[in-house]
Amino acid sequence: MRGRRLLLLAVILVGVVAPAAGLGAFVRATVALDVAARSASDRVHDASLASQLLETDLMQAGESAQYLASRSQVKDALRAADATKLGAELAAYEAASPQYAAIIGLDAGGRELALGVPNVGAIVRGASGDDRSSRDYYTGALAAAGPFVSGAYEPTTPLNPSLVAVSVAVRDGTDLLGVIAVTLTPAEIIDEVAKAAAQSGRAILVVDRSGHVVASTSDAYAPLSTLELPSLTDAVAGASGSTQAPLQGGERVLTYVPVTGAKWALYILDDPQVVLAVEHDLQSRLSIAASMAVGATLLLAVALVALYGRLSRRTDELARSQAALVASNAELQEANRHKSEFLSSVSHELRTPMNAIIGFTDLLDEQLRATATERQRRYFKNIREAADHLLDLINDVLDLSRVETGRIDLRSEDVDLEQLLEPVVAYGRRAGADRGIAFGSQAPDGVVHLDPVRIRQVLYNLVSNALKFTPEGGRVDLEARIAGRDLSVAVRDTGIGIPAERRDRVFGMFERVNEDRSRAKGTGLGLALSKRIVELHGGSIAFISVEDKGSTFEVQLPGVAVSTMPEGGTAEVASASR
Ligand code: ADP
Repeated sequence: MRGRRLLLLAVILVGVVAPAAGLGAFVRATVALDVAARSASDRVHDASLASQLLETDLMQAGESAQYLASRSQVKDALRAADATKLGAELAAYEAASPQYAAIIGLDAGGRELALGVPNVGAIVRGASGDDRSSRDYYTGALAAAGPFVSGAYEPTTPLNPSLVAVSVAVRDGTDLLGVIAVTLTPAEIIDEVAKAAAQSGRAILVVDRSGHVVASTSDAYAPLSTLELPSLTDAVAGASGSTQAPLQGGERVLTYVPVTGAKWALYILDDPQVVLAVEHDLQSRLSIAASMAVGATLLLAVALVALYGRLSRRTDELARSQAALVASNAELQEANRHKSEFLSSVSHELRTPMNAIIGFTDLLDEQLRATATERQRRYFKNIREAADHLLDLINDVLDLSRVETGRIDLRSEDVDLEQLLEPVVAYGRRAGADRGIAFGSQAPDGVVHLDPVRIRQVLYNLVSNALKFTPEGGRVDLEARIAGRDLSVAVRDTGIGIPAERRDRVFGMFERVNEDRSRAKGTGLGLALSKRIVELHGGSIAFISVEDKGSTFEVQLPGVAVSTMPEGGTAEVASASR
């Protein structure tokens, strides 16, 4: 037992505790990796969001430029090189779209023809006439199929630190008429973008493909200054990711994403200390959760061992008490067998002298009847009654002990139901008439297979009980029924009944439950014996009783009917015979 427990402890240690500890270490390592990956992907997500906002602004500018380039007024003005007319068109649109820094109209050769600027109303600033044909917003627009986003450039007027232009070519069929460029102030756009990705110690940087700062949220990166940024080519080509590098004298965590459609890149610059602190915080929170899970597993394992210990102790105790029970059960059975054998032999020995006593009493009674006094005759009668009672008792005890030691043999045979019941019914009528009790009987025709002597003994007992416990003027009925192969016999009386609280004692040995309510004599063994005889036949006996109203005892003998005689018909032979 102890060895088994130790073995289980070892199994639990090796099978649960060790994996749990291993799992703990693994979870912690995974958590560390996961935290780093998670925080990098969080930053890339922030950067993508910022970049998308930027792209939306650029796209709107592109749509504005395309709209202007498609207008016939604009085309006419360009064709006629009418600076005033073009300027009026651009200024009118500009006035309605104050988010743009300016709208420039170039002629086919790249010369500035007209300019719409904000906050100046419809006043058209005279075109400078300067040659912009070397600017990328001119060359780019000619080469691109749709809107072209320029790099950052320094404006001619010092109103803004830097500008970008979104430009489209104006064409008449295949003829180039000019270029419309909508310019934006990156500093303004980035303000909105910064809000989306704000975090302490963080800077957002937008650069063009040459590393020129288009806009930034930090004064440390001046517009149009040039930066050496890691992964710039990749980012402009569409890649995103995170890396760490020294920048402007300090170590920075750089997260980059492309600004699609502009050949720009957006960088988020974080302080490594802040990133580390965030990661550390996340990691320690995850680690606490993981440690708690591991701890709980260990606790569970310990509880399991304790529980198993208790369980196996209980099992041992149970096994011991079961063994004791088995032993005492065997002893009890042995003692019961001895008792039955003793009763059987004692009863047997008593029967002979009892019969002698009864025989000689009758003889003396007969011979002395003429001369005996009244008192002597009463004595004879008392002796005879006492001897009868004693003989009944002895016979019942003998029968019971035979049933209990299995020494009773049923002598079953096919018997006509009427023949079976006849002596019982005759006895009922006679004894009923003696006591002023009406006796009725009812039974169908049929043949049953059973031990007629033993079943009669049961029915005698039921009828005699019914008559004993029914006062004069009452009624007793015996009713037999056959349903299929089942026989049932009910004995109903209108007698004193059995009090509810005594009903479960009725089939016990030497139980006389109505002694206080009736002067009827008895041994208290009849029903105990009847029950056993019926059970030997594979049947059952039951009763219902209402105090002072009467009782019905019913014997059920399933499968004993061999044939039934339907009214006016011949015997119907049951298919199975015994
Ligand atoms: P007994 O020899 O005393 O009749 P039984 O075993 O036949 O012994 O019956 C046990 C007891 O059950 C009886 O003493 C009686 O109190 C009660 N009993 C049996 N049959 C009836 C009945 N028909 N009406 C009332 N009481 C009954």
